[in-house]
Amino acid sequence: MKIVAIHEATLPIGSAMRNASIAFDQMTASALVIRTDQTIGGEALVGLAFDSIGRYGKGGLLRERFIPRLMAAAPSDLLDEHGHIDPARCVAVLMRGEKQGGHGERPGAVGLLDAALWDLRAKQMGLPLWQCLRESTGHMGTSATAPSTATTIETARAHTTAAATTAPPRIATYASCGHFTDNPNPQALRDEVAQCLAWGYTTVKIKLSGRDAKLDAQRIASALSAGLPASHLAVDLNGQWQAGDADGLAVLAEHPLAWVEEPTPALDYAALAAFCQSHSGPVATGENLFSVDDATNLLRYGGLRPQQDRLQMDISLSYGVGEYRAMLERAQAMGWSPQAFWAHAGHLFAAHVVAAFGLGSHESAPDPSRLYGGFWDGVPVVDGHLHVPAHPGVGFEHKANLMAAFDQLP
Ligand SMILES: [Mg+2]
Repeated sequence: MKIVAIHEATLPIGSAMRNASIAFDQMTASALVIRTDQTIGGEALVGLAFDSIGRYGKGGLLRERFIPRLMAAAPSDLLDEHGHIDPARCVAVLMRGEKQGGHGERPGAVGLLDAALWDLRAKQMGLPLWQCLRESTGHMGTSATAPSTATTIETARAHTTAAATTAPPRIATYASCGHFTDNPNPQALRDEVAQCLAWGYTTVKIKLSGRDAKLDAQRIASALSAGLPASHLAVDLNGQWQAGDADGLAVLAEHPLAWVEEPTPALDYAALAAFCQSHSGPVATGENLFSVDDATNLLRYGGLRPQQDRLQMDISLSYGVGEYRAMLERAQAMGWSPQAFWAHAGHLFAAHVVAAFGLGSHESAPDPSRLYGGFWDGVPVVDGHLHVPAHPGVGFEHKANLMAAFDQLP
Protein backbone atom coordinates (compact mmCIF):
# COMPACT_ATOMS: atom_id res chain seq x y z
CA MET A 1 0.00 0.00 0.00
CA LYS A 2 1.19 3.47 -0.83
CA ILE A 3 -0.05 6.84 0.37
CA VAL A 4 -0.69 8.89 -2.77
CA ALA A 5 -2.02 12.16 -1.32
CA ILE A 6 -2.90 13.87 1.96
CA HIS A 7 -5.35 16.79 1.94
CA GLU A 8 -6.28 19.15 4.78
CA ALA A 9 -9.04 21.73 4.91
CA THR A 10 -9.40 24.30 7.68
CA LEU A 11 -13.13 24.62 8.28
CA PRO A 12 -15.03 27.36 10.14
CA ILE A 13 -16.88 25.90 13.10
CA GLY A 14 -17.44 29.16 14.98
CA SER A 15 -20.52 29.92 17.02
CA ALA A 16 -21.56 32.77 19.26
CA MET A 17 -20.51 31.24 22.56
CA ARG A 18 -17.76 31.84 25.11
CA ASN A 19 -16.14 30.22 28.08
CA ALA A 20 -14.40 32.16 30.83
CA SER A 21 -11.23 32.32 28.74
CA ILE A 22 -12.03 32.54 25.01
CA ALA A 23 -14.81 33.15 22.46
CA PHE A 24 -15.61 30.57 19.81
CA ASP A 25 -16.95 32.86 17.07
CA GLN A 26 -13.76 32.59 14.98
CA MET A 27 -12.99 28.94 15.82
CA THR A 28 -11.76 26.63 13.07
CA ALA A 29 -10.90 22.93 12.84
CA SER A 30 -8.96 20.77 10.41
CA ALA A 31 -10.44 17.92 8.40
CA LEU A 32 -7.85 15.58 6.93
CA VAL A 33 -7.91 12.73 4.43
CA ILE A 34 -5.08 10.33 3.58
CA ARG A 35 -5.59 8.78 0.15
CA THR A 36 -3.96 5.48 -0.88
CA ASP A 37 -3.52 3.42 -4.03
CA GLN A 38 -5.76 0.66 -2.59
CA THR A 39 -9.46 -0.13 -2.53
CA ILE A 40 -11.31 -2.19 0.01
CA GLY A 41 -14.76 -3.63 -0.69
CA GLY A 42 -14.87 -1.61 -3.88
CA GLU A 43 -14.32 1.66 -2.01
CA ALA A 44 -11.18 3.76 -2.03
CA LEU A 45 -9.11 3.05 1.08
CA VAL A 46 -8.70 6.35 2.92
CA GLY A 47 -7.80 7.48 6.41
CA LEU A 48 -9.92 10.30 7.88
CA ALA A 49 -9.48 12.58 10.87
CA PHE A 50 -11.30 15.58 12.30
CA ASP A 51 -9.76 17.97 14.79
CA SER A 52 -10.36 18.16 18.44
CA ILE A 53 -12.08 21.42 19.33
CA GLY A 54 -10.81 24.62 20.87
CA ARG A 55 -7.27 25.08 19.48
CA TYR A 56 -8.03 26.11 15.84
CA GLY A 57 -7.15 24.30 12.61
CA LYS A 58 -3.64 22.99 11.94
CA GLY A 59 -3.43 23.73 8.20
CA GLY A 60 -0.20 25.73 8.20
CA LEU A 61 1.86 23.19 10.11
CA LEU A 62 0.36 20.30 8.18
CA ARG A 63 0.86 21.75 4.71
CA GLU A 64 4.27 23.33 5.30
CA ARG A 65 5.98 20.60 7.30
CA PHE A 66 4.27 17.41 8.35
CA ILE A 67 2.40 16.31 5.24
CA PRO A 68 5.50 16.81 3.02
CA ARG A 69 7.62 14.90 5.55
CA LEU A 70 5.28 11.91 5.46
CA MET A 71 4.92 12.01 1.68
CA ALA A 72 8.71 12.07 1.25
CA ALA A 73 9.23 8.95 3.38
CA ALA A 74 9.94 5.57 1.84
CA PRO A 75 6.78 3.41 2.01
CA SER A 76 8.78 0.77 3.86
CA ASP A 77 9.33 3.29 6.69
CA LEU A 78 5.58 3.62 7.21
CA LEU A 79 4.34 0.01 7.13
CA ASP A 80 4.53 -2.99 9.43
CA GLU A 81 5.64 -6.43 8.31
CA HIS A 82 2.11 -7.26 7.13
CA GLY A 83 1.89 -4.22 4.88
CA HIS A 84 -0.45 -2.37 7.24
CA ILE A 85 0.19 1.29 7.94
CA ASP A 86 2.03 1.58 11.26
CA PRO A 87 1.12 4.87 13.02
CA ALA A 88 3.98 4.57 15.52
CA ARG A 89 6.53 4.33 12.71
CA CYS A 90 4.79 7.17 10.86
CA VAL A 91 4.93 9.44 13.92
CA ALA A 92 8.65 8.68 14.22
CA VAL A 93 9.02 9.93 10.65
CA LEU A 94 6.91 13.02 11.39
CA MET A 95 9.10 13.89 14.37
CA ARG A 96 12.40 13.71 12.48
CA GLY A 97 14.25 16.97 13.02
CA GLU A 98 11.89 18.15 15.78
CA LYS A 99 13.44 19.41 19.02
CA GLN A 100 12.17 18.13 22.35
CA GLY A 101 9.85 20.29 24.45
CA GLY A 102 8.08 23.47 23.50
CA HIS A 103 5.17 21.60 21.95
CA GLY A 104 2.89 24.53 21.08
CA GLU A 105 0.53 23.66 18.20
CA ARG A 106 2.82 20.92 16.83
CA PRO A 107 1.28 18.06 18.85
CA GLY A 108 -2.16 18.79 17.39
CA ALA A 109 -0.88 18.63 13.82
CA VAL A 110 0.96 15.36 14.44
CA GLY A 111 -2.01 14.02 16.41
CA LEU A 112 -4.40 14.73 13.56
CA LEU A 113 -2.22 12.76 11.14
CA ASP A 114 -1.89 9.99 13.74
CA ALA A 115 -5.69 9.79 14.00
CA ALA A 116 -6.11 9.47 10.23
CA LEU A 117 -3.37 6.83 10.13
CA TRP A 118 -5.18 4.81 12.80
CA ASP A 119 -8.44 5.06 10.84
CA LEU A 120 -6.53 3.81 7.80
CA ARG A 121 -4.90 0.93 9.68
CA ALA A 122 -8.18 -0.22 11.23
CA LYS A 123 -9.86 -0.23 7.82
CA GLN A 124 -6.97 -2.23 6.36
CA MET A 125 -7.44 -4.79 9.13
CA GLY A 126 -11.24 -4.73 8.75
CA LEU A 127 -11.69 -3.83 12.41
CA PRO A 128 -13.42 -1.09 14.38
CA LEU A 129 -10.72 1.22 15.68
CA TRP A 130 -11.16 0.23 19.34
CA GLN A 131 -10.43 -3.39 18.46
CA CYS A 132 -7.55 -2.46 16.19
CA LEU A 133 -6.04 -0.41 19.03
CA ARG A 134 -6.27 -3.27 21.47
CA GLU A 135 -4.81 -5.76 19.04
CA SER A 136 -2.05 -3.35 18.07
CA THR A 137 -1.01 -1.90 21.42
CA GLY A 138 -2.50 -4.08 24.16
CA HIS A 139 -5.31 -3.39 26.62
CA MET A 140 -4.45 -1.12 29.55
CA GLY A 141 -5.47 -3.91 31.89
CA THR A 142 -2.31 -5.69 30.75
CA SER A 143 -0.12 -2.76 31.66
CA ALA A 144 2.32 -4.83 33.68
CA THR A 145 3.56 -6.18 30.38
CA ALA A 146 2.46 -3.31 28.19
CA PRO A 147 5.07 -2.20 25.70
CA SER A 148 6.77 1.13 25.57
CA THR A 149 5.16 3.35 22.97
CA ALA A 150 8.59 3.73 21.45
CA THR A 151 8.28 0.18 20.15
CA THR A 152 6.69 -0.50 16.82
CA ILE A 153 3.24 -1.97 16.56
CA GLU A 154 4.45 -5.38 15.53
CA THR A 155 6.53 -5.63 18.67
CA ALA A 156 3.59 -4.39 20.68
CA ARG A 157 1.23 -6.95 19.25
CA ALA A 158 3.14 -9.74 20.93
CA HIS A 159 2.09 -8.29 24.28
CA THR A 160 -1.63 -8.35 23.55
CA THR A 161 -3.29 -10.92 25.76
CA ALA A 162 -6.22 -13.23 25.26
CA ALA A 163 -8.06 -11.09 27.80
CA ALA A 164 -8.82 -8.56 25.08
CA THR A 165 -12.48 -8.99 24.25
CA THR A 166 -14.14 -8.57 20.87
CA ALA A 167 -17.56 -7.73 22.34
CA PRO A 168 -18.84 -4.29 21.23
CA PRO A 169 -17.85 -2.01 24.09
CA ARG A 170 -20.18 0.24 26.04
CA ILE A 171 -18.58 3.47 27.22
CA ALA A 172 -19.62 6.27 29.53
CA THR A 173 -20.01 9.77 28.17
CA TYR A 174 -20.96 13.19 29.49
CA ALA A 175 -22.30 16.35 27.88
CA SER A 176 -20.27 19.54 27.73
CA CYS A 177 -22.48 22.60 27.28
CA GLY A 178 -23.60 25.73 29.11
CA HIS A 179 -21.29 28.23 27.45
CA PHE A 180 -21.82 31.95 27.87
CA THR A 181 -23.96 33.47 25.13
CA ASP A 182 -25.68 36.77 24.40
CA ASN A 183 -29.07 35.24 25.16
CA PRO A 184 -30.43 37.31 28.08
CA ASN A 185 -33.06 34.70 28.98
CA PRO A 186 -32.12 33.26 32.41
CA GLN A 187 -33.93 30.06 31.45
CA ALA A 188 -31.59 29.39 28.54
CA LEU A 189 -29.00 27.54 30.62
CA ARG A 190 -31.68 25.45 32.30
CA ASP A 191 -33.16 24.58 28.89
CA GLU A 192 -29.76 23.59 27.54
CA VAL A 193 -29.10 21.22 30.44
CA ALA A 194 -32.65 19.81 30.12
CA GLN A 195 -31.97 19.12 26.44
CA CYS A 196 -28.86 17.13 27.36
CA LEU A 197 -30.88 15.03 29.79
CA ALA A 198 -33.50 14.46 27.07
CA TRP A 199 -30.72 13.29 24.75
CA GLY A 200 -29.81 10.60 27.27
CA TYR A 201 -26.88 12.16 29.13
CA THR A 202 -26.84 11.85 32.90
CA THR A 203 -23.77 14.00 33.65
CA VAL A 204 -23.54 17.54 32.29
CA LYS A 205 -20.78 20.14 32.44
CA ILE A 206 -21.39 23.89 32.27
CA LYS A 207 -19.10 26.89 32.14
CA LEU A 208 -18.61 29.25 35.07
CA SER A 209 -16.86 32.61 35.16
CA GLY A 210 -14.48 31.58 37.94
CA ARG A 211 -14.36 35.24 39.02
CA ASP A 212 -17.93 36.30 39.79
CA ALA A 213 -19.21 34.19 42.69
CA LYS A 214 -22.74 35.57 42.52
CA LEU A 215 -23.06 34.86 38.79
CA ASP A 216 -21.59 31.39 39.21
CA ALA A 217 -24.02 30.57 42.03
CA GLN A 218 -26.89 31.61 39.75
CA ARG A 219 -25.60 29.45 36.91
CA ILE A 220 -25.27 26.41 39.16
CA ALA A 221 -28.82 26.97 40.44
CA SER A 222 -30.13 27.30 36.86
CA ALA A 223 -28.47 24.07 35.78
CA LEU A 224 -29.74 22.16 38.82
CA SER A 225 -33.28 23.44 38.19
CA ALA A 226 -33.34 21.24 35.08
CA GLY A 227 -33.59 18.25 37.41
CA LEU A 228 -29.94 17.22 37.46
CA PRO A 229 -28.53 16.01 40.80
CA ALA A 230 -25.60 18.14 41.95
CA SER A 231 -23.37 15.06 41.95
CA HIS A 232 -23.91 14.85 38.16
CA LEU A 233 -23.20 18.52 37.45
CA ALA A 234 -19.62 19.53 36.61
CA VAL A 235 -18.38 23.10 36.30
CA ASP A 236 -15.52 24.40 34.16
CA LEU A 237 -13.58 27.48 35.31
CA ASN A 238 -11.21 27.55 32.30
CA GLY A 239 -8.29 28.62 34.47
CA GLN A 240 -9.90 31.72 35.99
CA TRP A 241 -9.95 31.01 39.75
CA GLN A 242 -7.88 33.53 41.68
CA ALA A 243 -5.82 32.43 44.69
CA GLY A 244 -7.53 33.53 47.89
CA ASP A 245 -11.01 33.89 46.34
CA ALA A 246 -12.95 32.55 49.32
CA ASP A 247 -16.35 33.53 47.87
CA GLY A 248 -15.65 31.48 44.77
CA LEU A 249 -14.57 28.49 46.86
CA ALA A 250 -17.74 28.78 48.95
CA VAL A 251 -19.92 28.61 45.82
CA LEU A 252 -18.05 25.53 44.62
CA ALA A 253 -18.40 23.87 48.03
CA GLU A 254 -22.12 24.60 48.37
CA HIS A 255 -23.12 21.50 46.37
CA PRO A 256 -21.44 18.08 46.02
CA LEU A 257 -20.51 18.74 42.38
CA ALA A 258 -19.31 15.96 40.06
CA TRP A 259 -16.06 17.86 39.56
CA VAL A 260 -14.53 21.33 39.23
CA GLU A 261 -12.61 21.57 35.95
CA GLU A 262 -9.39 23.44 35.20
CA PRO A 263 -9.68 25.91 38.08
CA THR A 264 -6.22 27.39 37.46
CA PRO A 265 -3.93 28.12 34.46
CA ALA A 266 -2.90 24.90 32.74
CA LEU A 267 0.85 25.12 33.44
CA ASP A 268 0.69 26.65 36.95
CA TYR A 269 0.94 23.48 39.00
CA ALA A 270 1.51 25.31 42.30
CA ALA A 271 -1.73 27.26 41.80
CA LEU A 272 -3.58 24.02 41.11
CA ALA A 273 -2.08 22.43 44.20
CA ALA A 274 -3.27 25.41 46.25
CA PHE A 275 -6.78 25.02 44.85
CA CYS A 276 -6.79 21.30 45.63
CA GLN A 277 -5.77 22.11 49.20
CA SER A 278 -8.78 24.42 49.47
CA HIS A 279 -11.41 22.32 47.72
CA SER A 280 -12.12 18.80 48.92
CA GLY A 281 -14.33 17.71 46.01
CA PRO A 282 -13.17 16.11 42.75
CA VAL A 283 -11.04 18.21 40.40
CA ALA A 284 -10.43 17.54 36.70
CA THR A 285 -7.78 19.05 34.43
CA GLY A 286 -5.16 18.37 31.77
CA GLU A 287 -6.86 19.30 28.48
CA ASN A 288 -4.22 21.93 27.73
CA LEU A 289 -1.18 19.71 28.37
CA PHE A 290 0.07 18.02 25.22
CA SER A 291 3.02 15.84 26.20
CA VAL A 292 3.93 13.09 28.61
CA ASP A 293 6.48 15.43 30.22
CA ASP A 294 3.85 18.09 30.92
CA ALA A 295 1.43 15.46 32.19
CA THR A 296 4.13 14.08 34.48
CA ASN A 297 4.73 17.52 35.95
CA LEU A 298 0.99 17.87 36.53
CA LEU A 299 0.94 14.61 38.46
CA ARG A 300 4.11 15.44 40.37
CA TYR A 301 3.30 19.01 41.38
CA GLY A 302 -0.42 19.72 40.82
CA GLY A 303 -1.68 18.34 44.13
CA LEU A 304 -4.16 16.02 42.40
CA ARG A 305 -5.53 12.99 44.23
CA PRO A 306 -5.61 9.68 42.29
CA GLN A 307 -8.53 8.38 44.32
CA GLN A 308 -10.96 11.10 43.23
CA ASP A 309 -9.61 13.44 40.55
CA ARG A 310 -9.77 13.15 36.75
CA LEU A 311 -7.24 13.63 33.98
CA GLN A 312 -8.47 15.15 30.73
CA MET A 313 -5.53 15.15 28.36
CA ASP A 314 -6.67 15.24 24.74
CA ILE A 315 -5.51 12.35 22.56
CA SER A 316 -5.34 14.10 19.21
CA LEU A 317 -3.93 17.34 20.61
CA SER A 318 -1.11 15.34 22.26
CA TYR A 319 0.74 13.78 19.30
CA GLY A 320 -1.85 10.97 19.14
CA VAL A 321 -2.22 7.49 20.54
CA GLY A 322 1.48 6.81 21.26
CA GLU A 323 2.05 9.84 23.48
CA TYR A 324 -1.35 9.41 25.14
CA ARG A 325 -0.56 5.80 25.86
CA ALA A 326 2.73 6.89 27.41
CA MET A 327 0.77 9.30 29.64
CA LEU A 328 -1.49 6.46 30.72
CA GLU A 329 1.45 4.25 31.58
CA ARG A 330 3.29 7.04 33.41
CA ALA A 331 0.17 7.86 35.41
CA GLN A 332 -0.44 4.21 36.21
CA ALA A 333 3.09 3.96 37.59
CA MET A 334 2.21 6.92 39.84
CA GLY A 335 -0.90 5.28 41.26
CA TRP A 336 -3.56 6.39 38.79
CA SER A 337 -6.14 4.11 37.18
CA PRO A 338 -7.08 4.37 33.48
CA GLN A 339 -10.58 5.02 34.86
CA ALA A 340 -9.33 8.42 36.02
CA PHE A 341 -8.72 9.41 32.38
CA TRP A 342 -11.70 11.28 30.97
CA ALA A 343 -10.48 12.27 27.53
CA HIS A 344 -11.04 15.84 26.35
CA ALA A 345 -13.13 16.42 23.23
CA GLY A 346 -11.86 14.24 20.43
CA HIS A 347 -15.29 12.94 19.58
CA LEU A 348 -15.67 9.82 17.46
CA PHE A 349 -11.94 9.03 17.45
CA ALA A 350 -11.61 9.57 21.19
CA ALA A 351 -14.64 7.38 21.85
CA HIS A 352 -12.76 4.45 20.32
CA VAL A 353 -9.69 5.17 22.45
CA VAL A 354 -11.85 5.32 25.58
CA ALA A 355 -13.30 1.93 24.63
CA ALA A 356 -9.94 0.39 23.71
CA PHE A 357 -8.09 1.32 26.88
CA GLY A 358 -10.94 1.13 29.41
CA LEU A 359 -10.91 4.83 30.25
CA GLY A 360 -13.39 6.44 32.64
CA SER A 361 -15.54 8.53 30.33
CA HIS A 362 -15.70 10.52 27.13
CA GLU A 363 -16.49 14.21 26.70
CA SER A 364 -19.21 14.93 24.16
CA ALA A 365 -20.47 18.09 22.52
CA PRO A 366 -24.06 16.89 22.72
CA ASP A 367 -25.68 18.64 19.75
CA PRO A 368 -25.51 16.16 16.83
CA SER A 369 -26.20 18.92 14.29
CA ARG A 370 -22.65 20.20 14.82
CA LEU A 371 -19.82 18.61 12.85
CA TYR A 372 -18.12 17.75 16.12
CA GLY A 373 -21.32 17.01 18.06
CA GLY A 374 -23.02 13.79 19.03
CA PHE A 375 -21.98 10.38 17.77
CA TRP A 376 -22.61 8.09 14.80
CA ASP A 377 -26.04 8.48 13.21
CA GLY A 378 -28.53 6.18 14.90
CA VAL A 379 -26.33 5.49 17.94
CA PRO A 380 -28.18 6.90 20.96
CA VAL A 381 -26.88 7.90 24.35
CA VAL A 382 -28.83 5.86 26.90
CA ASP A 383 -28.44 6.41 30.62
CA GLY A 384 -25.17 8.25 30.02
CA HIS A 385 -23.60 5.48 27.94
CA LEU A 386 -23.36 4.36 24.33
CA HIS A 387 -22.27 1.32 22.39
CA VAL A 388 -19.36 1.98 20.04
CA PRO A 389 -20.47 0.55 16.69
CA ALA A 390 -18.60 -2.09 14.72
CA HIS A 391 -17.97 -0.04 11.58
CA PRO A 392 -14.38 -0.48 10.32
CA GLY A 393 -12.08 2.34 11.38
CA VAL A 394 -13.50 5.30 13.29
CA GLY A 395 -16.76 5.15 11.34
CA PHE A 396 -16.85 8.76 10.16
CA GLU A 397 -18.74 7.43 7.14
CA HIS A 398 -21.72 6.90 9.47
CA LYS A 399 -22.10 10.53 10.58
CA ALA A 400 -23.68 12.21 7.57
CA ASN A 401 -23.03 15.88 8.34
CA LEU A 402 -19.36 15.23 9.06
CA MET A 403 -18.94 13.14 5.91
CA ALA A 404 -20.40 16.02 3.92
CA ALA A 405 -17.43 18.07 5.14
CA PHE A 406 -14.94 15.34 4.21
CA ASP A 407 -16.57 15.07 0.80
CA GLN A 408 -15.49 18.65 0.08
CA LEU A 409 -11.84 17.65 0.31
CA PRO A 410 -9.98 16.88 -2.93
MG1 LIG B 1 -12.56 22.30 29.87
